[in-house]
Amino acid sequence: MSGPTRWVYRFDELDTVEQTLGGAWDSVRGLLGGKGANLAEMTRLGIPVPPGFTVTTRACLRYLGGDDAVPANTMPTEIWDQVLAALGDTERKLGKRFGDPSTPLLVSCRSGAKFSMPGMMDTVLNIGLNDETAKGLIDRSGDEHFVYDSYRRLIQMFGTVVLGLRDELFENVLAAARTTRGVATDAELTAADLRQVVARFREISPRFPTDPYEQLQLAIEAVFRSWNGRRAIDYRNAAGIAHDLGTAVNVQAMVFGNLGAQSATGVAMTRSGATGAPGLEGDFLLNAQGEDVVSGTRATLPIQSLGEVLPQAYAELQEMAGRLEARYHDMQDIEFTVEDGTLWMLQTRDGKRTATAAVRIAVELADEGLIDRATAVRRVSPAQIDFFLHPQLAAEARAKAIEEGRLVATGLNVSPGAAVGAVAFDPDTAQRLAADGRKIILVRPETKPDDVHGMLAAQGILTTRGGRTSHAALVARQFGKPAVVGVSALEVDLVGHRALVGDLEIAEGDWVSLDGGTGQVFLGQLDTFVPDISDTWLSTLLSWADDYRRLGVRANADYPVDAQRARANGAEGIGLCRTEHMFFATDRLPLMQKMIMSGSTTERREALDELQPLQRSDFLGLFRAMDGLPVIIRLVDPPLHEFLPTFEELSHRITDAKIRLSAAASLDEIDGLLTRLRHDEDLLRRVEALRESNPMLGLRGVRLALRYPEILQMQVRAIFEPACDALEAGGDPHPEVMVPLTTDAGELRKAREVIDAEAAAVFAERGLSMPYLVGTMVETPRAALTAPKLAAHADFFSVGSNDLTQTTYGLSRDDAETSFLVDYLRTGVYDHDPFTSIDPDGVGALIDLAIDAADLHEGFEVGVCGEHGGDPTSIGWCHEHGLTYVSCSPLRVPVARLAAAQAALTD
Ligand code: ADP
Ligand code: MG
Ligand code: MG
Repeated sequence: MSGPTRWVYRFDELDTVEQTLGGAWDSVRGLLGGKGANLAEMTRLGIPVPPGFTVTTRACLRYLGGDDAVPANTMPTEIWDQVLAALGDTERKLGKRFGDPSTPLLVSCRSGAKFSMPGMMDTVLNIGLNDETAKGLIDRSGDEHFVYDSYRRLIQMFGTVVLGLRDELFENVLAAARTTRGVATDAELTAADLRQVVARFREISPRFPTDPYEQLQLAIEAVFRSWNGRRAIDYRNAAGIAHDLGTAVNVQAMVFGNLGAQSATGVAMTRSGATGAPGLEGDFLLNAQGEDVVSGTRATLPIQSLGEVLPQAYAELQEMAGRLEARYHDMQDIEFTVEDGTLWMLQTRDGKRTATAAVRIAVELADEGLIDRATAVRRVSPAQIDFFLHPQLAAEARAKAIEEGRLVATGLNVSPGAAVGAVAFDPDTAQRLAADGRKIILVRPETKPDDVHGMLAAQGILTTRGGRTSHAALVARQFGKPAVVGVSALEVDLVGHRALVGDLEIAEGDWVSLDGGTGQVFLGQLDTFVPDISDTWLSTLLSWADDYRRLGVRANADYPVDAQRARANGAEGIGLCRTEHMFFATDRLPLMQKMIMSGSTTERREALDELQPLQRSDFLGLFRAMDGLPVIIRLVDPPLHEFLPTFEELSHRITDAKIRLSAAASLDEIDGLLTRLRHDEDLLRRVEALRESNPMLGLRGVRLALRYPEILQMQVRAIFEPACDALEAGGDPHPEVMVPLTTDAGELRKAREVIDAEAAAVFAERGLSMPYLVGTMVETPRAALTAPKLAAHADFFSVGSNDLTQTTYGLSRDDAETSFLVDYLRTGVYDHDPFTSIDPDGVGALIDLAIDAADLHEGFEVGVCGEHGGDPTSIGWCHEHGLTYVSCSPLRVPVARLAAAQAALTD
């Protein structure tokens, strides 16, 4: 567009702005700020908005940066001239004049950046009042009380916001006036009282400008400068908002909610922000102005009672709510004022909401036709679904605690879920008390690797320092512990074993409740609940998600109950059943040890014969729970020594037995001790024999199966016999056998021979057969690099992304996580945790090789079964790279379904 740069746009010029910017709403918001853009949009929709104009973010940046003609922090004439021109327009629209005592126009000066930002400068209302215009306004309105109330507000806001005076100075004057008059609220002060208050305020703020234009200019400049204020910068850093956006300033004609009994001011959401239920939810005050409603100085009324006092305005408000939702296709958070019975809208924006509300609102907006289903699916974040999977604070308990003043502090919400427990200030105490069955909250100034045992023992973690990437935050997220960090209002006195919030002391053992989703910290034991995953709105939303996603979602489940839960959550099969978990059960471990201890193959077979029936019943349960769906069972994977006591433990037991033997009193006792001693010494010899210097790279996985084929045979039998049982009972089992840690095609060929032969034997005995698959894990670089050769002997691949990450990086996760990995992430050596999200450059490149190899075979499936399978970012990656499915913990299946749909929708 030609002509001079526009620094100012009237609210009724949105079409011009859009033409200039090419129409994109995002850039309109960028130029006018969120508040300004929405005021302009409401104006265009014919919604009653007091006239006014927006000084653009570009003007702000020009003011802050200065240029050849004007130094920084000086109002350039061309900007000011445009402000005056736009102000002239507002005057004409209303038939009032700024600074003219006979028809005084008053305006507000409101900041409004692209993204809503607490920490930016506050609004100044009633600009344009001085002794003369105040008199003029009294003559016109005949309401001295109203005028002096407005005037004192202007001086107070201007004093605190623009001149930087402490609010206390003003509040003390008001308090004294209330005491003198014997009233509880400012609204009850008489006009004469308020006139005196104004006089006192003028004394307190001698720099308060009486020239309305000077008031306006200083207010605009103060808003501009507040962009670079400390609070604003801190907030942007924390919220990840760019520092070069600038803020817009909205100058708007005042409407008055403090003009008597037919006037009011209020805020409302178009639907409940807590539950998502339809219908206005909000508060208002009769005869009040601006911030009174949110400041909590007067008791507000619920929005519904506006219908009783000002029915006309209430009906209009409901209608506006509908129109705004129709325009913005979302729940709106609105500010309004009723001036002498007439409704004015002052702000609208997308409303904040809880996860429960987000889901319900998305589904109902789609049902009402305001958005389509794809949009509904995109509206809810995986993190919000995650909310449904953790215990939460009960809403009533939270509200009650807030009312009772037990919300003691708020910090950063770094790991979701509610935690309730007694405070412990050091990790050892936390661990000790937790071992006694107590619920503990670990409270520290910050955490270090030394604290991890205490963090694991605790229900939740609270630190007073640190940010989103602090040690505490990272570890908490890793282990799914609710955590709040950077609670700076709290001071931990480690020596005195107490914490202080102002005057309040929290002692060791005191109960606290924290909400890792909101960052709130409460005193006392709040009730919690586990959200209902079968919530109808959530299941509807997830069923829509299923219509869009192409990536399959399976579950990692070892037991029939997990499989049932997984299926209820929408899993389409089992992507990984870790058989060794079955062996760790207390009734089986001795049998497993007996098997490992066997001196000969015959002995080993005997032990295996005892184990087999136990495994069978588990597998039958899995096939039943996943009837008609694939069940991938992985053969035993870990090194055998994991099933035996440790070398250290055994040595200790042996020494102990020997000491007791030397002091034994009876023959019986000696007998007993000797038997145990011999047993332990046998075990120790075996443990020594199995001892490896690098067990993770030792005799495990497929190597174990080839070394002891009888173990492999037992497992295959334990899989196929119950599969036959399920089939005979009319079921539809889909067994798939998975070979772990394969690094060479030869291993797979050999293992497959045994598997096929044993399966054939079972089928022959039972006189039936069924299709089944044999596949392999891809969890070492060599497996990925030789994937084409492995594919010749496999029916499917499953990427074990945890181990593949370990082996690709050549680092041990258990060791790294509690030491250098956290530092790497904090100091930015790694830009993300490869155990949380798939490393696209290294691990991802290897997975691509497996996918390429699989693509050469019809119907050859490749899934990911590491923890990455439940991580939204990794799920996006898996979708893009054409994996068949992800497999994650049963609890995360809903998150994966949504994330997979969102990935498909961004294509
Ligand atoms: P915030 O972003 O902090 O909500 P606002 O600019 O929205 O700040 O204003 C603070 C309060 O003043 C709100 O209640 C708003 O409705 C009210 N307000 C702002 N401008 C006007 C106006 N021109 N007339 C009446 N009330 C106003
Ligand atoms: Mg507002
Ligand atoms: Mg593995």
